[in-house]
Amino acid sequence: MLDYHLHLWPHSQSDAETTVEQVAAYCERAVEAGVTEIAVTEHLFRFTQARDLVGGFWNDLPGEALRPGMAAYWDHHARVDLDAYVEVVEAVKAEGLPVVLGLEVDYYQDRMDEVAGLLAGYPFDVLLGSVHWLGTWRFDVLNDPLVMAEWEVRDIDAVWDEYTRAMEELGASGACDVFAHPDLVKVAGRVPAVPDEFYDRITEAAVRSGMAAELSSAGWRKPVGEEYPAPPLLKRFVEQGVPLTTASDAHSLPDVADRADDLRELLHGAGVSRLQAYRGRRPHLVPVDPSGGL
Ligand SMILES: [Zn+2]
Ligand SMILES: [Zn+2]
Repeated sequence: MLDYHLHLWPHSQSDAETTVEQVAAYCERAVEAGVTEIAVTEHLFRFTQARDLVGGFWNDLPGEALRPGMAAYWDHHARVDLDAYVEVVEAVKAEGLPVVLGLEVDYYQDRMDEVAGLLAGYPFDVLLGSVHWLGTWRFDVLNDPLVMAEWEVRDIDAVWDEYTRAMEELGASGACDVFAHPDLVKVAGRVPAVPDEFYDRITEAAVRSGMAAELSSAGWRKPVGEEYPAPPLLKRFVEQGVPLTTASDAHSLPDVADRADDLRELLHGAGVSRLQAYRGRRPHLVPVDPSGGL
């Protein structure tokens, strides 16, 4: 098992520091839970280098009323030095602890070449690709009343279509390795009556891009109360040969490797015995159960 989606800081924390002790503690907790390797994958928007590169992108997007919220979100989050983060994770890795260097990268329409250019300057092992925002709408920030008001007025099929289009474009950009929480758009519990078309398109986006997809326990901690991806989407991934990682999407130590045993059960049920791990953005397969071999 892997835990290939980990954050070091909760969203409520603004200024933050990367420490060897914290990354080492994440490794220790993961190993105790039967995880053989973790990837630390902080949000790109945590870093001042991202703000310098794409900050203000929201001013070009539809959704004027939500622009101030996006600006405040970035001001709150984008305060950490990317170089220091990379140095610390690399140092822990060099000590032989089971960690690889990653990042969770959002989709920036028409800006992914610039983003890829920034990231190419660092020795990342794995890059997660995520869609958290549709225009200026941060649809998964469920404690923001303005965000939730949008969920009340928008057509659910149209929301899923816009999300799926962003996933397709993110895949086509070639900037990332793994689709994080592939059906995150269900986070608030709003799912179309017939979501099949969206599942088919997301699967196709993964197949065409060669990206892996993540099986994540984070959805169990959200209103939707279901793993990412939903069972019919996981089934499509497996049938189409999309490689998988496993993930908790923890934002603090207690959630590291959260429900790893339940994820293992889902993999067994789906007939999946191997996961995809990464070094230097190159994939290799590892067994779900190390004792069982490949
Ligand atoms: Zn995410
Ligand atoms: Zn995340």
